[in-house]
Amino acid sequence: MTRVHGDLDEIRAQLEALQTRDLPTHGGRTLAYVYDSGLTDVDELGREALARYASSNGLDPTAFPSLLEMENDLVATAARLLGGEGNADGVGAVGTVTSGGTESVLLAVLTARDAYPHVSNPQMVLPTTIHAAFLKAAHYFGVEAVLVDVDERTVRADPEAMRAAVTDRTILLAGSAPSYAHGVVDPITEIAAIAAERGIRCHVDACIGGWVLPYLTAVDRASVPPWTFAVPGVTSISVDLHKYAYTPKGVSLLLHRTPDLRRPQYFALASWPGYTMLNSTLQSTKSGGPLAAAWAVTRAIGESGYVALARQARSGAAALASAIGLDWERGIEHLRVVVEPDSTLVAVAADESCDIFTIADEMLTRGWYVQPQMAYRSMPPTLHLTVSAATEPGVEDFLEALRESVAAAVAAGPIEVDPGLAAAATALDPATLDDEAFDGLLQLAGLAGDEGLALPERMAPVNALLNVAPAPLREALLIAFLDRLQRPSS
Ligand SMILES: *Cc1c(COP(=O)(O)O)cnc(C)c1O
Repeated sequence: MTRVHGDLDEIRAQLEALQTRDLPTHGGRTLAYVYDSGLTDVDELGREALARYASSNGLDPTAFPSLLEMENDLVATAARLLGGEGNADGVGAVGTVTSGGTESVLLAVLTARDAYPHVSNPQMVLPTTIHAAFLKAAHYFGVEAVLVDVDERTVRADPEAMRAAVTDRTILLAGSAPSYAHGVVDPITEIAAIAAERGIRCHVDACIGGWVLPYLTAVDRASVPPWTFAVPGVTSISVDLHKYAYTPKGVSLLLHRTPDLRRPQYFALASWPGYTMLNSTLQSTKSGGPLAAAWAVTRAIGESGYVALARQARSGAAALASAIGLDWERGIEHLRVVVEPDSTLVAVAADESCDIFTIADEMLTRGWYVQPQMAYRSMPPTLHLTVSAATEPGVEDFLEALRESVAAAVAAGPIEVDPGLAAAATALDPATLDDEAFDGLLQLAGLAGDEGLALPERMAPVNALLNVAPAPLREALLIAFLDRLQRPSS
């Protein structure tokens, strides 16, 4: 028998110690990245299923038929939820389990591209509030993203402006249900009608809302217009299970209205000496863990459980939004909610008397994580709040911490980025910068010290500088930062 080198209990202790550096995944105080149902026994079941299937391989459904069965069960549940159950001819929506929202979106774009092989230099027309995953898809797959400004007041897609942007090369339109940055649902009926008229595809990105909105009754929900397969012209929908289905990370669904629409998603390769490769997703070897965990958790929570969780998260978000206030005059002084949320996400802006990123730092010292969002076009920088069911009981504590944080940020005053520095940043062409220049810039931005990389205790000065940097420079700088972070430990 092979003798192992490490002391297993010691390694367990090390893992536990390492994890204390991270944001808490449970407890409802982390308002981005993680989703907490507060159901500890269901979480435990999810972890058991994850572990049980960790080594199973979704690469070959004939070798692991249990994974195929669970996948089809999940897709059936999602299709019912999203209005994709069989029509008169009995053919309903079909779907695939993917590793996450980004993979679902990448595949939706790739599938649309390959459905129109005769279109060279294909384009997709997107509202500016669409998730960055679409721009990643554009970058990866050579589909040009044509971004159309949203309505300034409602922050929702402008269908007429989208129609005007459609050309003979357009293969896909998309909208969000809801958008990540502001939490509002786009007018999908109008967008999908344009797509149907032109005979092109329409994807609804319901990655974050797909497992919440259908469970809310009209009473819990502001008047959200329809966005599911019930809307004619919607050809595909993405919904993440590792968000509001509260399953362990690594699982999302991409649904197509019909099997025909899905066909270009498949990839088969027989011309090599190994096994015939047959894939439905970007991954080939695919852990059965996240899928099995999602199957177990969704069965455990069930429809009545999700109704209760959706209402709880929604009521938390609504309570936060109304306490913060929809305009400067109402609610917490110096803050306002950018737009009344349609679901469980809230975007908060601050006035000139304080720095929004300082508020985020102050919240973190009080044990709450809120996510900074930089200024974009005419949109101000904001704080993003993803409200989980488990956050709702803590809303009053959150608001108290927020009031204190605003007071501290007002006392600290706005952060003035040196005008010379801001001007220099605007003039820089990142393409002309070498490694040494990036080292200097990282130091200037506060992301590196004399001893090399260091994340400062307070991110506000870094964020304030990044916020005034043009997007291409911000991207280049953060890539340089990540490149330096990801070096083998010595
Ligand atoms: C989270 C999200 C995505 C991307 O999903 P990941 O799971 O992070 O890859 C795409 N669209 C929307 C609207 C999202 O909220």
